[in-house]
Amino acid sequence: MSRTPAPVRPAEIVVDLAAIRANARLLRATSGVQLIAVVKADGYGHGLVEAARAAQQGGAEWIAAATLDEALALRAAGIDGRLLCWLTAPGADYAAAADADLDVTAYSVAELDAIAAAVGTRAEPVRIQLKVDTGLSRGGAPRTEWPDLFARARAGEQEGTWRVTGVWSHLACADEPDHPANDAQEQAYRDALELAARHGLDPEIRHLANSAAALLRPSARFDAVRCGIAVYGLDPAPGHTHDVGLVPAMTVRAPLAMVKELAPGDAVSYGHRWTADRPTTVGLVPLGYGDGIPRHASVHATPGTAAQVAVDGKRRPIRGRVCMDQFMVDLGGDRPPVGTEVIVFGPPSLGGPTAQDWAEACGTINYEIVTRIGGRMARRYVDSDLAADSTIARGGE
Ligand SMILES: *Cc1c(COP(=O)(O)O)cnc(C)c1O
Repeated sequence: MSRTPAPVRPAEIVVDLAAIRANARLLRATSGVQLIAVVKADGYGHGLVEAARAAQQGGAEWIAAATLDEALALRAAGIDGRLLCWLTAPGADYAAAADADLDVTAYSVAELDAIAAAVGTRAEPVRIQLKVDTGLSRGGAPRTEWPDLFARARAGEQEGTWRVTGVWSHLACADEPDHPANDAQEQAYRDALELAARHGLDPEIRHLANSAAALLRPSARFDAVRCGIAVYGLDPAPGHTHDVGLVPAMTVRAPLAMVKELAPGDAVSYGHRWTADRPTTVGLVPLGYGDGIPRHASVHATPGTAAQVAVDGKRRPIRGRVCMDQFMVDLGGDRPPVGTEVIVFGPPSLGGPTAQDWAEACGTINYEIVTRIGGRMARRYVDSDLAADSTIARGGE
C-alpha cells in the first residue's frame, strides 16, 4: 500500500482559540491585575481579530495594537471594549481614532497639539494615554520632556478635550530579570507617576509590564499587564520562567510531498551544504522562506543543532538549505508515505518541536518564528475546548 486515496490537507497554520483563552485567563489570575492583550502584527501571526476575540473571552479587559490601522481594523471587525494603540505617526487620523472610541497614546506635546486640533470639540472628551521613556530609548517622552507633556495633557483635560486614561512605559530587559535596567526603569516609571500626579493627572490605569515582567516581576504589575507573547502560549523569558501552564496556540503542519533515497556522496539543496555520508532517505516538506520558514534554520545549522520537524511522530532534522518553497529533512532510511503529516512546530503535547526549538536553532526568539510564519499557508481555527466538550466538563467561566 504505497498510496492513500484520502485527500491530503495542504500546509497550514492551525490556531487553537481555546489555548489563547486559557492563557489569557491564566495571565489574569496569576498577575491579579487587568490584562491588556497585545494583538499587534496580526496577533503575532495568529490572526488579529480572532486573537483579540479569544483573549477577550479569556477575560482580557483591554486589547492593544501597535498601529492605528490595526486598531481601526479591530473595531471594523466588531471588537468592542477598550482598545489601545501606541504607534501613531505625525499626520495620523486622530479624528478617526476618536470616532472609533480608541485610547490613543501620545509621546509628545506636539502630538497632543495635533490630537487637539484633529478631534476638535466633542460632547465627550476623547481618551488618550501618555507614554514615558524610562530607559528603552524607543517611543515615549524622554524624562526632560515629562513636565511639559504632563502640563499640556492636564490642560487638555481641563479644556474638556480629552481624559488621560493611562500613563505607561515599556521595559528593555524584562526577559533578563537580573539586569539592573529593570530596577532603574521601574524607579523612573514611579518618578513619572509621581510627577504626573503633581500635575493633577489621575490615570485610570498605570502599566509597565510586558509578558516577561508580568510573570517575573510582581512589583512592575501596577494596574495592568500588557502581554503579547504569553497570550499565545510562548515563553517570554526562556530559562527564567517556571512552567506556569501556558499552552502554545499555534501549530504549523504540512503533508510530506516526496520521499527519495540518497547514496553516500549525494548532496542536498542549493550550495550543496549537506552531503550524505551513508545511504539514507530524505523527505520533501513543501514550505520555505516564502512561507516564513527561516532560511537561518539551515544557514545556522551545525550538526546536532539543525531545526527539526516531526514526521509521523519522529524528529527529523533539516538537511541542506531551506529554499523559498521547500526544504528537505532526513528520514534516516524510513519511507513514510507521501501525505504523512509533518509537524513543523506546535505545542509540546504534540511531541514535535516547538517554536522555541526553532528559535534556538535559528538564533532568534520565538516571537519572530510565529510572527513571520504565513506566506501561502491558510490559517485554520480550532477550539480544543469544543472538541473536548463531549468528554470533559467545562471549567466554570
Ligand atoms: C509588543 C509590546 C508588548 C507585548 O510584549 P510581549 O513581550 O509580547 O508581552 C507590550 N508593550 C509594548 C509597548 C509592545 O510594543
